Amino acid sequence: MNDIFGRPLRNLRLSVTDRCNLRCQYCMPEDDYVWLPREDVLHFEEIAALVDVFLSLGIDKIRLTGGEPLLRRDVPALVRMITAKPGLKDLALTTNGVLLADQADALKSAGLGRITVSLDTLHPDRFVKLTRFNQLEAVHAGIAAAHRVFGRLKVDTVVIRGVNDDELIPLIEYARSVDGEIRFIEYMDVGGASRWSPDRVVSRRQMLDALARHYGEVVPIAEAGSSAPAERFALADGTTFGIISSTTSPFCSTCDRSRLTADGMWYLCLYATGGIDLRAPLRQGASPDELKALIAGGWRARADRGAEERLALGERRAFVPVQDLLKKDPHLEMHTRGG
Ligand code: SAM
Repeated sequence: MNDIFGRPLRNLRLSVTDRCNLRCQYCMPEDDYVWLPREDVLHFEEIAALVDVFLSLGIDKIRLTGGEPLLRRDVPALVRMITAKPGLKDLALTTNGVLLADQADALKSAGLGRITVSLDTLHPDRFVKLTRFNQLEAVHAGIAAAHRVFGRLKVDTVVIRGVNDDELIPLIEYARSVDGEIRFIEYMDVGGASRWSPDRVVSRRQMLDALARHYGEVVPIAEAGSSAPAERFALADGTTFGIISSTTSPFCSTCDRSRLTADGMWYLCLYATGGIDLRAPLRQGASPDELKALIAGGWRARADRGAEERLALGERRAFVPVQDLLKKDPHLEMHTRGG
């Protein structure tokens, strides 16, 4: 099933909570947040029912995210429910790693396929400044556990000028040491990134230049037909890494991702200001076919290309600059929508 621009419905990001145990300055820089009402948060059985409908419409890749997904109680139980479903090719999880050491084994036994850990710095003091919590050791322990249990993993790093742009090389070396592939993410002006400004963005081009100065030739890896957000590259010694350049070279034309928030709002673009409420019909007893029609109609009408539209703006500022607005609708926040 394709949208208006011929993009298939394939990838679902499932946010299981809007809560987080870090306060990364590029995502949750404020002191207070408005949380989703607890009674609105979908139960695992409700998530599983929606997943059935999405699978019947062509979704075959799901990523659990948040907020911090491992803050939700018994995520392995949800993993078990989802992996039991036929038609799913890939179930992955994105985590900040703080709680991962204790849960890696249970996640693997439940059937989780892959893990991505977000890590922006290797300096303990910088980690505290960036996230407001002294948890770098816990993240390292989480990564070690993920490596032991899952083997290869991905490490995601948001690169911010003047914050961690001097760590590209140490982070590549670190990822290599834990059998990980690092993906450098351009700082995005998403909802919640209220401190964003263009001069803090380190572009894909600038990252590649810095890496080439150190490592010599950096060769792009051709991946025909890929809709993955990261472009991958190889260094002369075979080390690979990725860059996600949503800010300076968006990839909306191949975007097959949509996002379901923990309270059942379905967003067709990270930058969309409105979503489709799936919780209300689900709780009012809509049949699978009715939900299927709602989702199919939404996707077929999808014309979003938010990142390209942001790029086309001459002058660019934070996406949702007004704090009042974010407080009125937490769904606009990246940590609610699920990164
Ligand atoms: N808590 C989990 C984690 O830390 O990975 C999952 C949720 S987090 C919102 C998902 C991803 O979004 C993280 O890799 C985070 O770095 C990224 N992210 C959040 N705000 C961002 C921004 N302004 N620009 C680029 N990436 C961002």
